[in-house]
Amino acid sequence: MNFDNLSQAVESVQQLRNFFKSIRIWCQQPEKLIYESRDEDTSEILSVDALAFQNATLSISRDTLKVNLAVTIDGRPCVIELIQRSTKEENATSMRSIQELIITDPLTNLYNRRFIDEQLPRELNRAFQNGEPVSFLYADIDLFKKINDRHGHVAGDCVLRDVASIFQNQIRRKDGWAARYGGDEFLLCLPEISQKAAVQMADRIRNAIAQKDFQGKSKTIRVTCSFGVQTLYQADDVNTLTQIIGLLDRKLYKAKATGRNRVIV
Ligand code: GH3
Ligand code: MG
Repeated sequence: MNFDNLSQAVESVQQLRNFFKSIRIWCQQPEKLIYESRDEDTSEILSVDALAFQNATLSISRDTLKVNLAVTIDGRPCVIELIQRSTKEENATSMRSIQELIITDPLTNLYNRRFIDEQLPRELNRAFQNGEPVSFLYADIDLFKKINDRHGHVAGDCVLRDVASIFQNQIRRKDGWAARYGGDEFLLCLPEISQKAAVQMADRIRNAIAQKDFQGKSKTIRVTCSFGVQTLYQADDVNTLTQIIGLLDRKLYKAKATGRNRVIV
C-alpha cells in the first residue's frame, strides 16, 4: 500500500477513528511527530513538510494497546500508531456497568423486572437440584396512592427509595436478592430459606418500615407495607414467575383485605 503524501495517509486512517482513541503518525528519519488526531479536530496536521512523501509501503504489528503500521511515505520510514479506545480491562468494566444498568431499577437501585425474569428460573433450578426450597416475599406499600396524593409524587418517590433501602439492608447478600416488581410492589427471592425464616424476615422488614419516619417535604410520613410469603419445594411443581406471582398475589390480597400492615403465609 502506497501513500503519495501525508494527507492521503491521514485520510486512510481517519476511517479507524471510531475504533481508536487516538492516531499518530511518526516520521522516523528524522524522528518527528507529523500527525496527531485530536478529539475536537480529527485532522490536525502538525507538519506540512511531510506532504511530499511518495511510495509508501505498509506493514502491521499489533499488541493489545496499539496497532503500529510501519510505513514509508515518500521513501521515508514512518509509523502510524493507532491507540485503542480502551484496554481490555476498561472494556470489561464498561461491559459490567452496562449489564448492571440493564438489570437495575433506576429509582430504587434494586434489581428490576428484567433481572427477575432472568434470574428466578435459575434460582429455582439451583435450589431444587440441591433438594432445597426457595422462599419468596411479595410486598406492596399500603395506600401508596394516598401518600402520593397527600405529599406529592416527589415525596412518593423518596418513600419508594427508602422502602427499597430497608429491603436492601434487611436482606443479607447470602439470603438472596430484592427487586422492584413494578409500581409499589417488591419481590424478594430467598433461595434455600425455610418458610419459618422467610416469615421472620418479612416481619422484621414490616416492623422496620412501620417504625420509620419517612421524610416528606414539610412533615414526616408514616408508611406500612403488606406481605405475602410463599415457600416452594420441587414437589410443588410451580416453575414459572406467573404461577409464583399468582400464589403471592392471593396472599397479598388477603393481607390487604384483613387490615394491611401484615404478613400472610
Ligand atoms: P393498597 O394498599 O391497596 O396497595 O393501595 P395503594 O394506594 O398502594 O394501591 P396500589 O398499590 O394499586 O397503588 C400503587 C400506586 O403507586 C399507584 C401509582 O400512582 C403509584 N406509583 C407507581 N409507581 C410509582 C413511582 O415510581 N413513583 C410514585 N411516586 N408513585 C408510583
Ligand atoms: Mg400499594
